[in-house]
Amino acid sequence: MRAAEHIVIGAGISGLSMAHYAAARGIPTLVLEAEDRIGGCIQSLAFQEDFWVEGGAHTCFNSYGHLLELLQQLPSPPTRVPKLRRYYQRWQGGQRRSLLSALHPLELLLALPRLATVQKSGRTVADYYSRVLGRRNYQDLFRYAFRAVICQDADAFPAELLFRPKPKRKDFPRRFSFSGGLSRISQAIAAQPGIQVRTGQRVAAVHPQGEGFRIHLESGEALECRWLSLAVPPDIARQLLSESFEPLAQELAGMEMAAIDSLAFWVPAQALSLPPLAGLIAWEQDCYAIVSRDDLPHDRYRGFTLHFRADALSRDAQLATARAALGVQPEAIRDPVWIRNRLPALRVEQQAQVQRLTERLQGKPLAIVGNWFFGVSIEDCLMRSYEESLRLFGEVHAD
Ligand SMILES: Cc1cc2nc3c(=O)[nH]c(=O)nc-3n(C[C@H](O)[C@H](O)[C@H](O)COP(=O)(O)OP(=O)(O)OC[C@H]3O[C@@H](n4cnc5c(N)ncnc54)[C@H](O)[C@@H]3O)c2cc1C
Repeated sequence: MRAAEHIVIGAGISGLSMAHYAAARGIPTLVLEAEDRIGGCIQSLAFQEDFWVEGGAHTCFNSYGHLLELLQQLPSPPTRVPKLRRYYQRWQGGQRRSLLSALHPLELLLALPRLATVQKSGRTVADYYSRVLGRRNYQDLFRYAFRAVICQDADAFPAELLFRPKPKRKDFPRRFSFSGGLSRISQAIAAQPGIQVRTGQRVAAVHPQGEGFRIHLESGEALECRWLSLAVPPDIARQLLSESFEPLAQELAGMEMAAIDSLAFWVPAQALSLPPLAGLIAWEQDCYAIVSRDDLPHDRYRGFTLHFRADALSRDAQLATARAALGVQPEAIRDPVWIRNRLPALRVEQQAQVQRLTERLQGKPLAIVGNWFFGVSIEDCLMRSYEESLRLFGEVHAD
C-alpha cells in the first residue's frame, strides 16, 4: 500500500518547498528526513526567549521572489523582521581593518568597463572577476569576500552561479529574517495540512515499483509512492539512485561537497566594546567569516557565528579565533554550539552534467531538487523546486 502519493527525501528548504508545491495542488506529501530536526542548512539556535543566532543561512533578500510568494500562500506565515544595513570589515593578521583598504581603485576603474563585454557563462569566479574587477583586486580583496559568501574557496566556482541576477520586490525590505529566525520558514511550511514530516528516517535506496517507487529506509522499512522527489545533496542522491537508476546516478558522478564547521554563541552586550557590524570577512586560510547578528539588534545580547574550513581547527582554536577577532574575554562567550554543514562545491564543467540530468528526468515521475542547479541560495533552491513541481504536477488550478 502507498505511504503517500508523493514522498520527498530530505527536509531542507528544497524538500520542504517541493512538499509545499505538491500540497498546494492537493497532493498529500510525506517528507522523510534523516536527522532529528528539519531545515538542513537552515538552523536557528534559540539562546534566549527572544534572541536567536543562525547556525547556517542567516539572511533573505527582496530578490527572493519564489520565497516571498510561497510565504504568502502559508496559512500561518512567520513574522518577517527587516534587517538593518551594517557593514563588513576584514580580519587579517590579528587586526580588524576596513574592506576598502584592500581595494586597488585605479585598477578597478580600468577593469569595470569590461562588465559590458565579458560573459559570466562558462567562466570560473576567479577568471570572470579578475577580468571585470582587476586581477589584484580579485586576489587581494574579492576572493576573500566571495569565499565568505559561499563558505568555501570560490576560485573554481562557476561565476554564473555565485550571484544570479533576480528581480527585486521593492514592496519588501531589502534584507530580512523572521521573528525566531529562518527556521520559522521550515516550521511554517512543514505545519501545513497535506504535509507530513517524519524525522530520524534515513533513506538507503530507491527502486522502481509499478508506475511509482519503493523507498527503503535504513531501519529496514519500505514505503511506496507514485511521485518521488529527491532533495538531498548530490553525493547522497547518487548513492540512492545507484542500484536502480544507473544512468541518472552517472550524471551525478564527481559532484563534490564542501564541509563547513560553524561555531555560534551569544555575548552579553556590555562585555563587548566592538561597534555594531555585519561581520568580519577573514583573510585567514581556515576561517571564512565571522557573521554577527547586529543587523537585528538586541538590548542585552549580541550573537556571532564563525564559519571555518571543516576539520582545520580544534574547538579550542576556533574559540581563540572568536575571542581575538571580537576582543572579548573567554567567559563572555556563552553557550557555544558547533555545527557541521555541507554545501555543493560547484564547478563549471558540471553545468552540462546537471543539464543532462534535467533532460533525463523529462517524463519521469521523479524530481531532483537542491542547491546545486541554479546556485546555493535559498531562492535558488526554491527556483529549482518550483520548476520541478511544474514538470511533475502541472499548474495549480484554483477551485
Ligand atoms: C553557513 C551557511 C550560510 C548560508 N547563508 C545563506 C544566506 O544567508 N542566505 C541564503 O539564501 N542561503 C544561505 N546559505 C545556503 C542555503 O542555506 C542552502 O543552500 C540551503 O538551505 C540548502 O537547502 P537544501 O534543502 O537544498 O539542502 P540541505 O539544507 O542540505 O538539506 C538536505 C536535507 O536532506 C537530509 N538528508 C540527507 N541524506 C538523507 C537521507 N539519506 N535520507 C533522508 N534525508 C536525508 C539532510 O539531513 C538535510 O536535512 C548558507 C548555507 C550555509 C551552510
